[in-house]
Amino acid sequence: MLDKVPEVFSRYFPGRVPVVIADCNTWKAAGERVFALLSEAGMKPQKFLIPAREFHAEWKYVEMIDKVLDGGGVAVSVGSGTINDLCKLSSAHHKQSYLSVATAASVDGYTSFGASITFKGAKQTFECPAPVACLADADVLCSAPKELTAAGYADLAAKIPAGAEWMIADFIGTEPIISDAWHPLQDCIDDILANAEAVAAGDPEAIGAVFDGLALSGFGMQTARSSRPASASDHLFSHILDMTHHKFNGKYVSHGFQVAIGTLTMCKVFENFFKLDLTRIDVDKCTAAWPSLESEQKRALDIFKDFPVPELGYREITKKYEPAEKVHQELMKLKAQWPDFRKKLMDQLYTFDDMQEKFRIVGAPVKPEDIGCTKDDIIAMFPFVQLMRYRINLFDLAKRAGVYDEIIKI
Ligand SMILES: [Zn+2]
Repeated sequence: MLDKVPEVFSRYFPGRVPVVIADCNTWKAAGERVFALLSEAGMKPQKFLIPAREFHAEWKYVEMIDKVLDGGGVAVSVGSGTINDLCKLSSAHHKQSYLSVATAASVDGYTSFGASITFKGAKQTFECPAPVACLADADVLCSAPKELTAAGYADLAAKIPAGAEWMIADFIGTEPIISDAWHPLQDCIDDILANAEAVAAGDPEAIGAVFDGLALSGFGMQTARSSRPASASDHLFSHILDMTHHKFNGKYVSHGFQVAIGTLTMCKVFENFFKLDLTRIDVDKCTAAWPSLESEQKRALDIFKDFPVPELGYREITKKYEPAEKVHQELMKLKAQWPDFRKKLMDQLYTFDDMQEKFRIVGAPVKPEDIGCTKDDIIAMFPFVQLMRYRINLFDLAKRAGVYDEIIKI
């Protein structure tokens, strides 16, 4: 597949100079070969290696690549999620596309609309188009470090609870499910995730399927023009860890590994939610207890006061706050439709034990300690997770129904 790079590049960028952008690991994995192929094709490529052994998607690297692309070249991103996101945003700054060469089935960001970059301390998704093409060589994917594939598997598995939370937003009516963004991945994800053993054994077909699943997730985000199809509370635990510069054994933890713990946590929280009988909620009592916007804003400011972005919760709750009358209607609907809605959510979700076993097989984290956290750390994140995004999540629904405290007992 790598030998197709020159042909694909010249098809989309005739006469332009390719700039191979990699880090020291991905240079060895594929960058060097891509550079040689482009040279042999007479394209006089340039190269830029990220000057750090360990880094994540931070603004300063976007600035570095911006300077490189100021020279007039077109990025050929060779790497996994981080390098791809940096190239994606920098290319958008130059009002041009780029070519992505994936070196691991590790994230779904290759084909997604938007780049997840830490800017002024806050992890943000910047709107920017996906690459014009993404090439993945099966041999390169299979020879990637096992933990990268495990991370990709977990990032894919996150679409299970993320899908359930999209169903909740759809139920509430804030973000209706978009069929074309939902079905391509959700219709095949169970089959892909069922191959945990083959993925762990390095089977090219199983690892290729994980990559395809991740690519479909990216396409879903393109269709929805948002990360809604791919990310919900499961990802917010990871965003908190990024924003607080969490390290384990002196190293940053990969996106997929952080998301693995977010995913397992949400499976557990959903299980608690399913144990409840919401046909018995007292809607009038819940509505009467519903806080005002002002008190929610104050609560958010209190919770986030020592957070790197103290105004984040305030800003997001202001966007998603709904008045008591609207909450009343939602709860009437929830009470009436609970058995059916609960079943639909249960059909979407995996049990905690099932998800944990899959992660154990592929070598993804199975408990908070595997990424340098404790269960108490995770529990302490719940108030942040509820408030840090404008999107309606399970915690918002539980707050409405007065059952928040019950579901967070993990
Ligand atoms: Zn992700």
